[in-house]
Amino acid sequence: MEYKTNSQRGLNTHCTHTGEIPDPVYRGSVSPIYPSTSYEYEDVDIKRYPRYFNTPNQEGVARKIAALEKAEDALVFGSGMAAISTALLSFLRQGDHVILPESIYGGTFHLATTQFPRQGISFDFVRTSQIPEIQSAIRPNTRVIYLESPSNPTLELTDLSAVSRIAAEQGILTMMDNTFASPVNQNPLEWGIDLAIHSATKYMGGHSDLCAGAIAGRSELIESIWNTAICYGGNLSDYSVWMLERSLKTLGIRVQRQNENAGRLASYLSTQDWVERVYYPGLNSFPQFELARRQMRGFGGMLSFTLSEELPAIAFLKALKLVKPAMSLAGVESTALQPSQTSHSLMPVGKRLELGITDQLIRFSAGIEELNDIVADLEQARNWVGERQNSL
Ligand SMILES: *Cc1c(COP(=O)(O)O)cnc(C)c1O
Repeated sequence: MEYKTNSQRGLNTHCTHTGEIPDPVYRGSVSPIYPSTSYEYEDVDIKRYPRYFNTPNQEGVARKIAALEKAEDALVFGSGMAAISTALLSFLRQGDHVILPESIYGGTFHLATTQFPRQGISFDFVRTSQIPEIQSAIRPNTRVIYLESPSNPTLELTDLSAVSRIAAEQGILTMMDNTFASPVNQNPLEWGIDLAIHSATKYMGGHSDLCAGAIAGRSELIESIWNTAICYGGNLSDYSVWMLERSLKTLGIRVQRQNENAGRLASYLSTQDWVERVYYPGLNSFPQFELARRQMRGFGGMLSFTLSEELPAIAFLKALKLVKPAMSLAGVESTALQPSQTSHSLMPVGKRLELGITDQLIRFSAGIEELNDIVADLEQARNWVGERQNSL
């Protein structure tokens, strides 16, 4: 389970090469796929089996992800939720308490609210951007503090080193869903967080065509998770793991481009009178800009903005031609959605509005297209909707 990673390598070299499987027979340039579910066991020190997370392709990709997260080890899962549920259930047991962010991914919210009560695990949702709220939620039986930063959809940040310091003092484990930032922009382990978790369906996959998850951390923690993981069986299949390796080769350049597009788009939107508010950690005007600069290397490909009242969000989304109104995020194509009607539709209206998630809020996932074409699309949608509104 222990991997030696050449930590001297830089980001894009890890993306391209770390964990690749040599092909000494044919000298092919890419890792061969090993679909075997059965491996001879004599004279070898490892028993390979897909659900043991140790086929050659699974191990290779885990090694690449460990390198990207600056971790000793990693495991690759069949979905982000397989990674999240396995991570949490590896450490939480009956009687334990866990602190979760108020603006948490919907699937993780569902996991906590529907599954934890049956297992005797208690939880509190707090605004993790407010350190005192975390401190006052800590109980003697708090076992895990779970974080997401930036949050969905308002990109609120949590001070990772402050949380990890508090948690370490009290022997509490910290986990962080790093999906939105990707390892290109932020490494939670560098700030003392114990485990970095990903929905690899998003930036790691990056082409909206594969579902996967990952956890990275110290070997001893990954070993504990592995013991639970082989029971739940949430491993990723051979072909998908190979696809994930292929996708990760371009993670660095994709995300760097998405950062650039999102940053420039956020600046542009901030100057527009048809936009009331822009949420992007890389804007000078973002309330947590200093924290963003401290703990993130890049500000990410996700931004949100509130349209002014004259432009109904549903009509605006429908009028877009290049940008797809789509669920999910992080693909090479730009997508947009209205959180109040999709990801946050089940949240009570009062709570939703308190978090700034009005019907006019649009969440935007920047792709890799030419920025001018994205802006032109937003402008034509704005003009089209604006003219129709005026003629009403
Ligand atoms: C999509 C997503 C998940 C869940 O991942 P799946 O691959 O869909 O299981 C978890 N966290 C965040 C932040 C996500 O965006």
